[in-house]
Order: sequence, then structure tokens, then C-alpha cells
Amino acid sequence: MTDAHAIAEGSSSWPYLPDAERGALRELLMYGPLPRAEIARRLGVSRASLTRATRVLMEHSMISEGEVALRGAMGRPSEMLVVRRDTHYFLGVKLTGDAVFAVVTDLSAQIVAQFEEPLVSTTVADTVDQIVRIHTRFAEDYKGICAAGVCLAGDIAGIDGRQIVTVSYFLQWRDVPLAELLGERLGIPVTADNDVHALTAAEHWFGVGAGAESLALVTIGAGIGFGLIVDGRVLTGHNGRAGRFDHVLVDSRGPSCGLGHPGCASVYLTSESIVRSIGTADLDYPTAVALARAGDAAALHAFDDAGKALGVILGTVINGLDPERVILTGDGLAVLEFAGGRVQRTLESVRLPSDDPVQFDVVPFEFTEWARAGAVAAIRLMLRF
Ligand SMILES: [Zn+2]
Repeated sequence: MTDAHAIAEGSSSWPYLPDAERGALRELLMYGPLPRAEIARRLGVSRASLTRATRVLMEHSMISEGEVALRGAMGRPSEMLVVRRDTHYFLGVKLTGDAVFAVVTDLSAQIVAQFEEPLVSTTVADTVDQIVRIHTRFAEDYKGICAAGVCLAGDIAGIDGRQIVTVSYFLQWRDVPLAELLGERLGIPVTADNDVHALTAAEHWFGVGAGAESLALVTIGAGIGFGLIVDGRVLTGHNGRAGRFDHVLVDSRGPSCGLGHPGCASVYLTSESIVRSIGTADLDYPTAVALARAGDAAALHAFDDAGKALGVILGTVINGLDPERVILTGDGLAVLEFAGGRVQRTLESVRLPSDDPVQFDVVPFEFTEWARAGAVAAIRLMLRF
């Protein structure tokens, strides 16, 4: 997330929250119900400060007191605080080159409504209009939509205090202040983020990576995406392009990618590359997977090459970041089914020698996860993380 979000304070039902309040809320969002004493310990604040902070959060209907947990046989019963799921809602949107996926989530990032439709056109004006219409439709049922997050494949950078989509190839956009344009129309704070960075942030708060100090998320599918958490924050880079490992060299004798790199990872690992390498006319990716499952030699060979490329990428990411954990997701996870051994062997040959196993999490992928990641970006925006 860049720091250049256009926050319109006071324009929504979301109140200003001082540090202790938003810190306490974040702990509850990331780790679920906790007693006051535990939150105070984690934040390093006094019980009195924490009691004040939780009172404020309760007054704003963000949390409530849940069940009483007995802590130890002789321990005093302590009241658990829980995030309320019926008061604040967030709009999340994922734009592809031809469709809009939208969800509404509650404060705990659970999806309560979802919707998808083809993109009317790829012009900025039409896309903004379309998102405004979707928001209007959702707002009939969810009065308290207090912020929105849109994510898309592209570079998003903070420039002069503004959040700008500097380039998106799928939408053929350049230098679009999408968050600002939507914020003016919707009247609520809006953030626009790179989709993989948003997904990484979502996994870091609400997924398998919850609370990790460092993690690397790799998405495999039509494209290869990377998200990095370092010291608890999403790494975006100066130009919003941090972590672009998709063009690392795999085999210098290989064919060239669209950018002219001979044998880079994207030549082998994207869904389109796998399909192209099998070489059968009119093949699509699901059919390529079916062929490999049926033992087709050309298909298995293509997935083996893809596995090698993934191993090179993972070894390079691990050498470069030394992450606490690595998350693999996306709609191209079949490469692990057909070439898991190749991935592992290549990774070990690239990675610096180490006795520490890397903790991998393979997260099955639903496309609505992208839109949910947009909603999580909106939640983070309101919490100023
Ligand atoms: Zn390349």
C-alpha cells in the first residue's frame, strides 16, 4: 500500500481512531477474539489506556464483548472482545481487462455479497461509472459502506501525494488517478492498489500469513505475481513495481518472452506459455491440465518446464528476501500437481545451502479473493496501516 491514499476524513461513518484504538482493532482483526489484558500486553500499553481504547471502539459499534473465557484452572474469567460484523461494510473491486468482480465485506473481511459482470468498456470514464453503479446497487442493502478498494494488474505509485495508476496493460491505462476519481463520485475514501500487493496484504491480515513479519506471496496463472511483506509492511517499491521476479533467467537457450528475454520464467510458467508449448491447435489451459492428468507426454513436458521456472523463481525470492513463509496461490497451481518434484529440486539448486526448511502454504484460489483483497485494502486504509 502506498501512503498516498486520498482520505476524506469525516465523509463516512468511520470515526477518527487514535493509535491505541486502531492498534487494538487490528489485533482483534488479525487474531480473532482476545481478552483486554492480552491486547494491552501485545500493544505495550497500560490496562487503563486499553480500557479507554476499547470503550471508544464499543461506542463506535466496532467491537463488542463476547464469551467469557476461563484462563487456566485458577485464573480469573476474562471477557473476550470480538469485532462486530454488522455495522461497517467495505466495497472491494477487482478489474480485469474485460470484467468487474465486486464484493461487500464486513469489518472482519468476510464476504457478505458479491457480483460480477463484463466491463462496459476499458475507458476510465466508463469504468468509474460502472463501479459507481455497482456501489449504488450494494448500498441499498448495506447502508454502512464506509470505504472502497479497487485492485487491478498494474503499477500504482504515490506521486505528489496522489495515488496514481501509472500503467495498466490490461486496461491500456496510463497515469490514471483512479482512487481520486472514484472518491469524488462515491463520497467515501477509496484506495486503488496493485492486485497482488492487495492480495498479499489480505493474506497478511486475514489469511495464512496473519501476523508474519516477512512473507512472500507468489501467484501463478495468466500472469505471475509477487507480493512481499517486510517488517510487517507490504513492499511496494519506488514505482509500485517491487518484487518483479517473473522475468528471471531460467534457460538462456530458451525462446524469448514478449519483452525479448531469452528463456525467462514467464516463457515457461504462465498459463498461456504452457498451452503454447504443448503446441496443439485450439488448446486452452483447462484442457492442458486435463491432458497432463491423462498422461499426455507433451503436456507433462510443458508442466515440467513450468515447474523448473517456478523453482528458479522461488529460490531467487528466498535468497533475496529470506521470508518467514512463502504462500503460493493463483489459478495455475496445477504445476505443483504435475511437477512438484521438479519445483523442489530446482528450488534447492538455486537456494543458498540451508538446513532450515522453508514454510510453504499452498492456498487454493477463488477468483473472488481478488475483490476481497480490494475490500481488505479499504479496511487497512481506514485503519491507516
Ligand atoms: Zn521475460
